[in-house]
Amino acid sequence: MSLCSNNSSDVLITNATIVNPSVDGSWRIGDGESILIKDGLIREIRQQGSLKAQDDQNVTVVDVAGRFVTPGLIDCHTHLIYAGNRATEFADRIVGKSYQEILENGGGILSTVEETRRAPIDRLHELASTRLERMTRFGLTTVEVKSGYGLNLETETKMLKVARLLDGPRARVISTFLGAHSLPTEFHGDKVRYMDYLVNEVLPKLTDMNLVDIVDGFCDQVAFSANELLPYFERAKSMGLPIRVHLDQLGDTDSFNAFSHLAPISVDHLEYINDRSIESMAQGNTVAVLVPTASYFLKQQQKPPVEKLRYYGIPLALATDHNPGTSPVESLLLAMNMGCVLFGLTPSEALSGVTINAAHALGVSDRGRVDCGMLGDLAIWDVTDPVELSYYMGHTPLWARVVGGMVFRDDSSSR
Ligand SMILES: [Zn+2]
Repeated sequence: MSLCSNNSSDVLITNATIVNPSVDGSWRIGDGESILIKDGLIREIRQQGSLKAQDDQNVTVVDVAGRFVTPGLIDCHTHLIYAGNRATEFADRIVGKSYQEILENGGGILSTVEETRRAPIDRLHELASTRLERMTRFGLTTVEVKSGYGLNLETETKMLKVARLLDGPRARVISTFLGAHSLPTEFHGDKVRYMDYLVNEVLPKLTDMNLVDIVDGFCDQVAFSANELLPYFERAKSMGLPIRVHLDQLGDTDSFNAFSHLAPISVDHLEYINDRSIESMAQGNTVAVLVPTASYFLKQQQKPPVEKLRYYGIPLALATDHNPGTSPVESLLLAMNMGCVLFGLTPSEALSGVTINAAHALGVSDRGRVDCGMLGDLAIWDVTDPVELSYYMGHTPLWARVVGGMVFRDDSSSR
């Protein structure tokens, strides 16, 4: 993407058709508005003609000719940093090989752990940076990035340092520690000892280095139980860190209640979540993050109970869950399409899911809507109806992105 505004981050967007999403999954569409961004924040939004750059030489004016303007998109769940890929495992799965055979063939999450441990930090940075660049072509301005392919202090540190390096003018990065992703082989099946190691050694050192914004853990039959995860999450909360949980992707663990006192900012996947857990979620402010691209890639028949989550007024977010094993997807727009087609979300719910509700899933309230005081992060689209954002598959109608008032335009996407 090329930068087309001047060095100033002050910009006046004129002739905008603002699409503003709400937590409840509805949207409000404006008409001919101007948006003034100064010092990185949205300062004013006015009807056309009433807001002018006037004689302020430092304000760049961008006439978007009536195009739809949404908040910059937020991918609130990714595993963006890793080495290697799992294409061989994909080919094996397609011809019906069992998980055991795939493991014997060198596949599975621990193969990514091995490659990531071996990779130098510069290589990991280069790989993740290239992926992030591609993700921005679909309108992304904020991405959450998890660790969890190190599973030891050295490599978790390396991954989270890369996440901090990725944070910059073209996209904002929120860093999540996911030490409780899988049990590394050197612990020989001893999950309790591994949790002790994470709680007493890894987490304190990573927080001392200011590398962690959020702490996440994988609660499922193939990973850890609620009891195993509790000391880890309780330590995180005691350090002032918000928690998130990969929950009930592959089976019903009936465990939301075990975490509810820790007020998770989100629980993610939820294909098998039960009624009791949903009713408990409804007592708090936890966001449900749905990942249709992983569901598609794994050919899962079980779908998250969207109707019930809606009934209880639980905010719905969508994410790519970008990772090499189960969701090698870089397009949030594709996640929106699949959220609609596979899970039955409406196009306006899909937009809320990658903006306002994705922000809340990350515990931030300064982005995800086009409002005064919010970060100056926008996506500007070449579409005739915002429904098209969920309609196209594999194509991006992005016209430009704005990050903190800096305008990025990809010439190849303009038409
Ligand atoms: Zn994940």
